[in-house]
Amino acid sequence: MEKTIIKDKLERPLRDLRISVIDRCNFRCQYCMPADQFGDDFEFLPKSALLSYEEIDRVAKAFVSLGVEKIRLTGGEPLLRRDLPILVKKLSEIDGLKDIALTTNGVLLPKLADKLKEAGLKRVNISLDTLNDELFGIINGRGVGTQPVLDGIEAAKKAGLRVKINMVVKKGLNDSEIIPMADFCLKNGLELRFIEYMDVGSSNGWKMNDVITKKQIYNMLKEHYQLESLDPAYFGEVAKLYNYTNTDVNVGFISSVSESFCSSCTRSRLSANGQIFTCLFNGNGHDIRNFMRNGATDEELRKRITDIWNGRNDRYSDERTEETAKNRKKIEMSYIGG
Ligand code: SAM
Repeated sequence: MEKTIIKDKLERPLRDLRISVIDRCNFRCQYCMPADQFGDDFEFLPKSALLSYEEIDRVAKAFVSLGVEKIRLTGGEPLLRRDLPILVKKLSEIDGLKDIALTTNGVLLPKLADKLKEAGLKRVNISLDTLNDELFGIINGRGVGTQPVLDGIEAAKKAGLRVKINMVVKKGLNDSEIIPMADFCLKNGLELRFIEYMDVGSSNGWKMNDVITKKQIYNMLKEHYQLESLDPAYFGEVAKLYNYTNTDVNVGFISSVSESFCSSCTRSRLSANGQIFTCLFNGNGHDIRNFMRNGATDEELRKRITDIWNGRNDRYSDERTEETAKNRKKIEMSYIGG
């Protein structure tokens, strides 16, 4: 199908789609799905509310025909969705889609990495916030040590997947792990991405004061390593990248709080229950699941996505204050993915 380029109200093209395939997770990370709010009695989405793989494939094709080049699968924990490689295979066959990535906590990668690679996945981002077992158990809210994640990293590498590591940094929680994590990733040839702690959802009790900024982390790294700034590889690249001098290893920063990048944000998001979100910090999405289930044609689907994108004027991170963080209703991360 011929590609149509569509732009939003701030002239930003549509380039990326993040798909949350499930709202459940095997961890209860305190900055994402805190255990006291996502307890045993929490009602997750029933299977019928999730988009089927056929539905996801259909929406993905419509998005690709409107300019999307890259899809990232996320969650919840995407590897908890049964037979995920089947979805990866379907997506990898979409004409015009250049890149499929996955964000995961890595625990199930020893079981699934080979199958995902065979299905067409090229790369994974694995979340790991510390190398300290006790602290990791506290952060993930399940008392799980780091070994299952380290095994997941090894399995992904062995399967031939490119691996990046995501580390969310929260003041007083894991900032002491910045240098140990940088050392570990540099030694193992892994690109580490430091992510500023964000006010996603309404359950993590975010405060501006808990954020360790990109600049602070960069200054810490500079005391230990020589870093060279790299130019963005493409418009809308989220991470600011540096290279450790005389190595082929990079390190990146996702500075969504201290140096927001709304003006070049080309991302749309599809939540686990089939709503389109045009910003990570929106409270409500645009239903696409019932629209499809009520018989919309492919042309109507494309028209709906076009209308949603054309009407987009979100720039939440540019406008964030302590007040907006507290008062704005926002979708939970587990519905929409990172
Ligand atoms: N379960 C998977 C995982 O652990 O990677 C995928 C979903 S998780 C929501 C995606 C990414 O969002 C993870 O790297 C996670 O650390 C990050 N994340 C979650 N809550 C965050 C927050 N409040 N601020 C910044 N990043 C966050």
